[in-house]
Amino acid sequence: MARIFCIANQKGGVGKTTTTVNLAAGLAKVGQRVLMIDLDPQGNATMGSGIDKRQLELTVYDVLLESATVAEARITADKCGYDVLGANRELAGAEVEMVAIDRREKRLRTALAAVGAEYDFILIDCPPSLSLLTLNGLCAAHGVIVPMQCEYFALEGLTDLVNTIKQVHANLNKNLQIIGLLRVMFDPRITLQQQVAEQLKSHFGNKVFDTVIPRNVRLAEAPSYGLPGVVFDPSAKGSQAFLAFAQELVVKMPGASASANVGATAS
Ligand code: ADP
Ligand code: MG
Repeated sequence: MARIFCIANQKGGVGKTTTTVNLAAGLAKVGQRVLMIDLDPQGNATMGSGIDKRQLELTVYDVLLESATVAEARITADKCGYDVLGANRELAGAEVEMVAIDRREKRLRTALAAVGAEYDFILIDCPPSLSLLTLNGLCAAHGVIVPMQCEYFALEGLTDLVNTIKQVHANLNKNLQIIGLLRVMFDPRITLQQQVAEQLKSHFGNKVFDTVIPRNVRLAEAPSYGLPGVVFDPSAKGSQAFLAFAQELVVKMPGASASANVGATAS
């Protein structure tokens, strides 16, 4: 059965979408079967996987409102090597439309049960809020991956997310845990970033991934080509880091597919 992870942080612009699409592509490169779900009405993860959000007939919105199944709404992102359950602006209306629905926070979880056996990993790109959409992601997931910039105030925003995760764990989803904090957009030339990166590691120990994602312009350029950096320019430093992160995650996951080609390198 698939491991289901939310990529979440209630701040915007911290690297959630970049992490989601590059981790999806990295996992695909090491032989994992991946479904990437875009839960953000901005649809950046959809576009960043080479799928035009304006042309989509079915999206995660239809799945949440139960007018389509995941199997009907997903699309294969051929160049990226993973499947996509896309999103566009229509998703912004879902919150309001779901208000009167029973078990509305469990819609995604219910829908994913039907395809869980087809994937090794399902990655969910969350919007920058602790909304009903994010709640659907958290209720469906086994774990949360939190991308963080190594800045002085990075931890401040974490408290609300951690409290939400605790509440979801206590009331809605006993399986949910924080898989780890991922240090992203790291610039080793900035002393403060080095210090914060080390403090995070010493404070949170094994809840911080060993892999650090550097600030790398190729990762920022890739979305305009409709590709994750890992596919757009596999040899770029940032892409290599995401590939290393995918391998770290596979190794850390007990029960991950034994066929995982963990020794693979970017090609
Ligand atoms: P979020 O989904 O949290 O809003 P994004 O992944 O969209 O954040 O990232 C915000 C911006 O930062 C985007 O323009 C993205 O291309 C850029 N970015 C993200 N990670 C990196 C990185 N490691 N190096 C350079 N630019 C990055
Ligand atoms: Mg985003």
